[in-house]
Amino acid sequence: MLEKVLIANRGEIALRILRACKELGIKTVAVYSTADRELMHLGLADETVCIGPAPAAQSYLHIPAIIAAAEVTGATAIHPGYGFLAENADFAEQVEKSGFAFIGPKADTIRLMGDKVSAKNAMIKSGVPVVPGSDGPLPEDEAEALRIAREVGYPVIIKAAGGGGGRGMRVVHKEEDLIKSAKLTRTEAGAAFGNSMVYLEKFLGNPRHVEVQVLSDGQGNAVHLYDRDCSLQRRHQKVLEEAPAPHIDEKARAEVLKRCVDACVEIGYRGAGTFEFLYEDGRFYFIEMNTRVQVEHPVTEMVTGVDIVKEMLSIAAGNKLSLKQEDIKVMGHSLECRINAEDPDNFMPSPGKVKHFHAPGGNGVRVDSHLYSGYSVPPNYDSLIGKLIVYGRDRDEALARMRNALDEIIVDGIKTNVPLHRDLVRDKGFCAGGINIHYLEKKLGMDKH
Ligand code: ADP
Repeated sequence: MLEKVLIANRGEIALRILRACKELGIKTVAVYSTADRELMHLGLADETVCIGPAPAAQSYLHIPAIIAAAEVTGATAIHPGYGFLAENADFAEQVEKSGFAFIGPKADTIRLMGDKVSAKNAMIKSGVPVVPGSDGPLPEDEAEALRIAREVGYPVIIKAAGGGGGRGMRVVHKEEDLIKSAKLTRTEAGAAFGNSMVYLEKFLGNPRHVEVQVLSDGQGNAVHLYDRDCSLQRRHQKVLEEAPAPHIDEKARAEVLKRCVDACVEIGYRGAGTFEFLYEDGRFYFIEMNTRVQVEHPVTEMVTGVDIVKEMLSIAAGNKLSLKQEDIKVMGHSLECRINAEDPDNFMPSPGKVKHFHAPGGNGVRVDSHLYSGYSVPPNYDSLIGKLIVYGRDRDEALARMRNALDEIIVDGIKTNVPLHRDLVRDKGFCAGGINIHYLEKKLGMDKH
């Protein structure tokens, strides 16, 4: 096993990783910015290092500071969590060059998947179904671009190869708008991502977001941990997730799960990863791969019993995957509500001091959060302050438990989106299962479709 892990992150995921390390008897190093001295996991880690001031660029994104912290503490591995440097190939490379294990894929894999055009091509090669489109960059040649779009059929979506976080995309409904939109997206992508390459896809009207969790040891062994549904989104940000995805065609599911495992073996994938798909009319269409642990990983842990973070640590230590596909079964149903420090009416961040925090409990309730009474949520980072996760023997039981848990939770002093979640778990459409990615925005009156 790994000896000492530096956790290059903050908040709930830092605490989550610390817990996994402690269970495995691995020593831990927690790093923090000057805005984060009050973080809960700092008191639980074996060592702590301040890596810089509040702005992430000078702390959690500052590669030399993190590597220096690993050096002075004698850490042997670095876990990036999610966000920050988790999908930064240069970081992974520098970590390994400096002699530490990177708890994630090889830098080349992160690079391959970070460019959506190369990622899509790799998927096509492995037989993973993708959204029909330009199969490569959209050519600058206007006649050629128009021909491709016509063949794919309108509406189409133009996407930046280097895009992320729901940015760098433009839907085109009519042929006369194509060239103008392609130019605009190229310019924006160049400015935002330093890469002006764009590609084109069929725009699916009412898809669901369904993703597949995988674990792969980079030594030829891979398994899937089934799927999650993350269709409840606002501005492409996931709000509430569940596992397994309800009402999925079983044949299509079995096929896509197998393809994802094959793709992991094919590309020599190492670590935990997620294949994201749009799902429409019984078919899966790959959109991107996330090469890290995801916020919503607990719902998969609840229904499979597999501890994804512990598996990541084991893989990074060079161990072969001990899990066999036939041993991994889905039992029951799990839901996760992302609790954000934000105004439930206008979604503005609401940092500040938590006067009182009461965590819900009971059978099948899990709270992954760094909150405690008296903790001040700093204004500098993401507004996620915790995740409320429930398990039930079936979806209805999970829903009933989530309603209870949301009634019990108390976060006083700051505003949170708990009222929105209370509403969502009573929403008729959501309770029936299988809503699409526009559902929440329509409900909130934001959808213009
Ligand atoms: P990002 O990396 O920015 O999150 P994705 O490729 O994952 O970009 O797409 C983000 C979201 O944009 C999807 O969840 C979906 O809502 C929408 N989207 C992307 N591609 C398509 C498509 N071909 N048809 C319809 N919606 C799409």
